[in-house]
Amino acid sequence: MSSAFDFDPQPRRASVAVDVGGVIVGGGAPVVVQSMTNTDTADIDGTVAQVAALHKAGSELVRITVDRDESAAAVPKIRERLERLGLDVPLVGDFHYIGHKLLADHPACAEALAKYRINPGNVGFKDKKDKQFAEIVEMAIRYDKPVRIGVNWGSLDQELLTRLMDENKANGFPLTAQEVTRETIVQSALLSAELAEEIGLPRNRIILSAKVSGVQDLIAVYAMLSARSDHALHLGLTEAGMGTKGIVASSASLGILMQQGIGDTIRISLTPEPGGDRTREVQVAQELLQVMGFRQFIPVVAACPGCGRTTSTVFQELAQKIQDDIRRNMPVWREKYPGVEGLKVAVMGCIVNGPGESKHADIGISLPGTGEMPAAPVFIDGEKAMTLRGPNIAGDFETLVSDYIEK
Ligand code: SF4
Repeated sequence: MSSAFDFDPQPRRASVAVDVGGVIVGGGAPVVVQSMTNTDTADIDGTVAQVAALHKAGSELVRITVDRDESAAAVPKIRERLERLGLDVPLVGDFHYIGHKLLADHPACAEALAKYRINPGNVGFKDKKDKQFAEIVEMAIRYDKPVRIGVNWGSLDQELLTRLMDENKANGFPLTAQEVTRETIVQSALLSAELAEEIGLPRNRIILSAKVSGVQDLIAVYAMLSARSDHALHLGLTEAGMGTKGIVASSASLGILMQQGIGDTIRISLTPEPGGDRTREVQVAQELLQVMGFRQFIPVVAACPGCGRTTSTVFQELAQKIQDDIRRNMPVWREKYPGVEGLKVAVMGCIVNGPGESKHADIGISLPGTGEMPAAPVFIDGEKAMTLRGPNIAGDFETLVSDYIEK
């Protein structure tokens, strides 16, 4: 029974399940992690390498840009190379402007992709718009593929925006300009989905997204969209930005929406440093789902922030080392020790919170802070199991963690 003090996540919003190359999005399936390459898709070697890296990092779907003939021609070759590597990750084609033409001219590309992303804001203008949109939908029907109707306020349907602004004016401005923009984003997605269904694409092959770059706008737009449709929803904050800002903004907005039961697949759009690691966005998406308790991907290492009671860096180094060990070993552990994803390890800096937090973990250590005896109690399954002493406390604890996992 829910009450005013019910802080648990809301039940997942009911949505129609969509099969994307064997990965189920919506219909109550676990929230899917996806990502996108930033290579030129015509560069087959570079794109295969990045798709493989993203998939190995945990991306369950990978989107690639299909912007011209050369990239469309490369898609089936990329698919083939991935299959030869034993990687069956579904590829999603990101189409803008000339998607209808590329899909028609490159049937092998249309076949190799597991889903087509259509942007209703740039699929065509005036009389051509509906015709070109219909052509992509017809290709999806012919090749038995789902589509994502992906609205983005950076490329919003200007005709629809103008119409809704005119209506707002005629009605005496009941809505603010921001509210009209939000309504346009939502209507663009819903009207496009309606049109796709009229053309003959079944509901279980349509996913919607409505991306904006402001946290409050994103929450509002998805709340509106989820209340007015049962299509599976792809969540993402667009142009989230670089570094911590992108991570914080994406986590805040997507976290709030998922807490309300909204969202069937997520992409964290981070701007990488030049030459930076693209897989970071996958790691952040997984960690967001894991810290919120929605999915488990990798053992969690709880560590305190440290303070004036920790004059050495031993505990930070140990926490980092355990985390690195886990990441390195996970591909093997996952196969060998089913359920290892749910493991919780605590590495704490002193006696203040160390024993308590360690007892809440499967295995935890409380390292000695300043003024404490040079001894580190270890807790296993909530009970004090032993005390480590001597110069190799960190190494001994690493061994204990490995032993615990093996057991
Ligand atoms: Fe500081 Fe100890 Fe708290 Fe860590 S557990 S932050 S070392 S008081």
